[in-house]
Amino acid sequence: MSGPTAPDLARRTAGMRSSKLRDLIAVTTSGPVLSLAGGLPPPEAMPLEALAAAADRLFARGDPALLQYSTTEGDPVLREVVAADLRDRLGLPDPAGRLIVTTGSQQALDLVGKVLLDPGDAAVVESPTYVGALRALAAYEPRFVGIPVDESGMDTDHLAGLLARGLRPKLCYTVPNFANPSGTTLAGERRGHLAELAARYGFLVVEDDPYGQLRFAGADVPPVARYGEQVLYLGSFSKLVAPGLRVGYAAAPPWLVRPLAVAKQATDLNSSSLAQRLVAEALAVPGWFEDHLAGLRALYRSRAAALVGAIGERLGGRMSAPMPDGGMFTWAELAGGGAGALEVAKAAMRRGVAVVPGDEFSVTDAFPHALRLSFSMLPPEHLVEAVQRLAEALDELSAR
Ligand code: PMP
Repeated sequence: MSGPTAPDLARRTAGMRSSKLRDLIAVTTSGPVLSLAGGLPPPEAMPLEALAAAADRLFARGDPALLQYSTTEGDPVLREVVAADLRDRLGLPDPAGRLIVTTGSQQALDLVGKVLLDPGDAAVVESPTYVGALRALAAYEPRFVGIPVDESGMDTDHLAGLLARGLRPKLCYTVPNFANPSGTTLAGERRGHLAELAARYGFLVVEDDPYGQLRFAGADVPPVARYGEQVLYLGSFSKLVAPGLRVGYAAAPPWLVRPLAVAKQATDLNSSSLAQRLVAEALAVPGWFEDHLAGLRALYRSRAAALVGAIGERLGGRMSAPMPDGGMFTWAELAGGGAGALEVAKAAMRRGVAVVPGDEFSVTDAFPHALRLSFSMLPPEHLVEAVQRLAEALDELSAR
């Protein structure tokens, strides 16, 4: 006797892949593994006390709005805080009227795909790029076009060449600051160039900036959104307060606000009222957020220095990894002629070190000799130990 038959899945699921990275993280958190794989705040960075105090104050006030549905565009209290920040810190013009709070910036990536992409439309991405953006946009079946990245971020001249030869993308996705996965920052003149190309050729720049406030070296660079109007600027409290809250936001060009809000309405009505109020309440304590960010920057600065320093000392000549100006990642390149990234990742895993092979982040190119290394989760002494084990893994492979 055969069981009941199930309906076929929608055709679009053929392009949906589970991230190998997620599977890897799931594996690595279960054992005593030194993880350079995930890009997330470590347990000691979670502001438990500040959020507990904020929650106490909120519930003591007894405002039932805390637990009620709220507007799709977001809680008015939080929107005001975010709008003031975008205006004062980033110089964005009139952010208040074009702001939508999202359930993490991941939701904004899904929503922009939903309202902008028809199957076959061109979507420009950095190569390598954030794998979660590829997964979100892939559901809408675009044709991805990868643009090479160097130490100054996306090569906008390369993009200009493709546009001159007839490429007409709907959007261009960039992580401008301390990118996931490359660690690079888009140079100021390239930001201006990108905004100019967007205006000239009529595409949307999706500027995904979850790490911008985690700069620990060098000077801030104005966002792409300061250079032009055709930009969807995405921010998130995931890396600055806590990812589990799922609070992010999008500042959209005026023509895009309504379509995004309508799409979000159908997706989840509104982001968690409680989580939004919690963030707003924590940020209302004078000096708290500034101090918390200063602590995070110091934490990541010392971890980046420990990882990159240990690679220089222990792996010089066999692996290079640049020091980023902020964020959580460095993009390590293995010397040519040696073992490939996948082989190295497997050998490292056998020694209890998790790293992610570069190919995970690619659309068109391959990165057979690159690894994404995150320094966010481990204290300096464990990062040094991880590099020691990586060195042993490379020794083992070269002895074969
Ligand atoms: N964009 C980038 C570049 C990221 O690295 C991440 C998280 N790793 C996200 C978006 C998603 O963040 P959120 O938690 O705000 O959805």
